[in-house]
Amino acid sequence: MRAEPPLKTSIVVCGTGIVGLATALALARRGQQVTLLGPRKTFAPATPEVFHPRVYAISPASQRFLASIGVWNMLDAQRSTAVQAMEIHGDGAGLVNLNAWQAAIPELAWIVESGEIERVLTQAVQIFGLNWIEEKFATYSKAGDADYSCVTTDRGTVLQAELFIAADGAQSPLRAAAGLPVDIKPYGVTAIVAHLNCARPHQGTAFQWFNEQGVLALLPMPSTQAGSQVSVVWSLKESLAQELLALPSSEQAKQLSARLATLTAGRVGELTLLGALQAFPLSLNQSPMIGERIALAGDAAHRLHPLAGQGLNLGLGDVEALVEVLAEREAFRSAGDAMVLRRYRRARAEPVLAMRVVTDGLHRLFEVQSAPVAWLRNIGMSAVEKMPLFKRYLIAGASR
Ligand SMILES: Cc1cc2nc3c(=O)[nH]c(=O)nc-3n(C[C@H](O)[C@H](O)[C@H](O)COP(=O)(O)OP(=O)(O)OC[C@H]3O[C@@H](n4cnc5c(N)ncnc54)[C@H](O)[C@@H]3O)c2cc1C
Repeated sequence: MRAEPPLKTSIVVCGTGIVGLATALALARRGQQVTLLGPRKTFAPATPEVFHPRVYAISPASQRFLASIGVWNMLDAQRSTAVQAMEIHGDGAGLVNLNAWQAAIPELAWIVESGEIERVLTQAVQIFGLNWIEEKFATYSKAGDADYSCVTTDRGTVLQAELFIAADGAQSPLRAAAGLPVDIKPYGVTAIVAHLNCARPHQGTAFQWFNEQGVLALLPMPSTQAGSQVSVVWSLKESLAQELLALPSSEQAKQLSARLATLTAGRVGELTLLGALQAFPLSLNQSPMIGERIALAGDAAHRLHPLAGQGLNLGLGDVEALVEVLAEREAFRSAGDAMVLRRYRRARAEPVLAMRVVTDGLHRLFEVQSAPVAWLRNIGMSAVEKMPLFKRYLIAGASR
């Protein structure tokens, strides 16, 4: 039996999460020859009032990017929530209020379901008629001809491309197979995620509490017949998270409501758990962003503490930059050209470093329990609260 000849293409995007789908779609829209490699999810029609267990805070920059590739308007507007304000509480009297109107922008961010973004991207990729190999990446080698690298899938398909884009998540099998290093610093912290009904309306406000147990965020969600709804992202020490996760579900719901009532001091009234808790161990990861004929994007490239809700936004920033350098490269350069990849790495160096420093720094600042540090950080927050110009600057940074 004769083996199939390898499929030869310019660019292969490996990974079909939000970052991979967005990369493939954006490249195809800029006239690049691209093949998508990874499993295809099927999406049942969304049930009104039932929400995907994961939601993301989407920044205005990501919103503009998703609009530019034609998918923002495909999202079901009834299922997203505009964030008009943020209320950030320290572990003492520290409080910072940020409002969209202070910066004269319509909203600070949008809260959108992960499943809804994946659904519209999948649909758009299909409408665009992109070549999609619904198999998993298995092995990587540089042994193609001079300008190509080579990948085989779990079903034995062989792909040769000038450039492979690893958008296959934090574990990135492609990154590992290509021998690219990744620096991983576990936080010893687990994020617990769930949706809750809240007795008082959230009024489009995202709330955050920094305290000795960790960071608690309540993100505004669309209301249902049962009332107002928020999504909780509670990053707390591994041992405390495990205690909660080990409880039987009825006890878990009771304990969660009780603990959140104390931490939020009743700010949004009683909180009632909807559905099961999900848990995500957190780490700070950084890769070199590029390798020989490889570019990394999204969680394959970097992973952050979710306290600023910026991981996916940073990943979509990667996509935008990568697509730009690939589409704008000189005609004589191949997609995997080392100079083109260095341009991508340069474009992402500052934004990735800045977000890493901010999120890691905030985590560390609130991790320290000593009284002088606690006093200082709360004084700092109170000072920021009194500086409208600085607050406008903060909003501009957060909503970039
Ligand atoms: C608790 C929590 C809250 C967060 N909140 C926010 C937020 O509010 N805002 C925000 O911007 N970010 C947030 N993030 C970050 C965000 O979740 C990630 O940055 C984002 O999901 C990364 O997307 P990705 O497409 O890079 O990776 P993934 O979503 O992990 O997708 C990877 C894809 O690769 C595929 N894959 C894996 N192996 C293979 C293989 N061998 N072959 C082919 N395909 C493969 C997988 O099937 C998957 O589809 C949060 C993170 C956490 C943990």
